[in-house]
Order: sequence, then C-alpha cells, then structure tokens
Amino acid sequence: MGPKRIQWSEPPIWVCCGFSEGDGSVAWYKDDAYLTRTSSSHEWWSTTYDAGAVAPVSGIYRCPGCGKEIAHNQDEKLPPQNHHQHSDDRGKVRWRLLVRSNTKGE
Ligand SMILES: [Zn+2]
Repeated sequence: MGPKRIQWSEPPIWVCCGFSEGDGSVAWYKDDAYLTRTSSSHEWWSTTYDAGAVAPVSGIYRCPGCGKEIAHNQDEKLPPQNHHQHSDDRGKVRWRLLVRSNTKGE
C-alpha cells in the first residue's frame, strides 16, 4: 500500500503502510491457523523499547505513537528516532512487540 493521507490537519500527516492509533490501527492476517494468541507474561510483550534498542526477539514491532509497523530480527537494533516523523503530540518513536516470529519452526 502506498502513502495514504489519513487526517485533515495542518500539515497533513502521511504514513506508509498503516493507520494512526485511534483510527482502529491494527495489523492484518489471512489465515489464523498460523497465529496463536499467547497468555505469556514474558517482558518482551509488555516492554516498549526505545528507538535504537536491541530487539529481544524476531517479529513485527509497532510504534505506539503512530501505529507504524516493522518486521525486525532478534539481536539487531530497532530503527532509530529518525526512522519516521511524528507530530509533537505523538511523542517519540518507540517500538512494542506485536507478533513474535517462530524463527525455529517449533
Ligand atoms: Zn511512529
């Protein structure tokens, strides 16, 4: 999906590949046979990571400020603060685990 104008504001806010929080921002999937809801209380599910922090697991991470999502590998640094732009009211770019990848085929 290309850039999409999501809000009539000055200046306009443009995002790639997602919607802003508050607009029903969610990820999509087709076949729920391959996704499992977890009740795990592991800290990677509840931690919001700073830009540039090392990702604890591979998966899809979401910026809570704007809903932008990325696919990212374990042990690599999450994208930096200048990865994308926020209006002031959205705070800093940070990352929260949304979907953990099953990289070992377990
Ligand atoms: Zn963001």
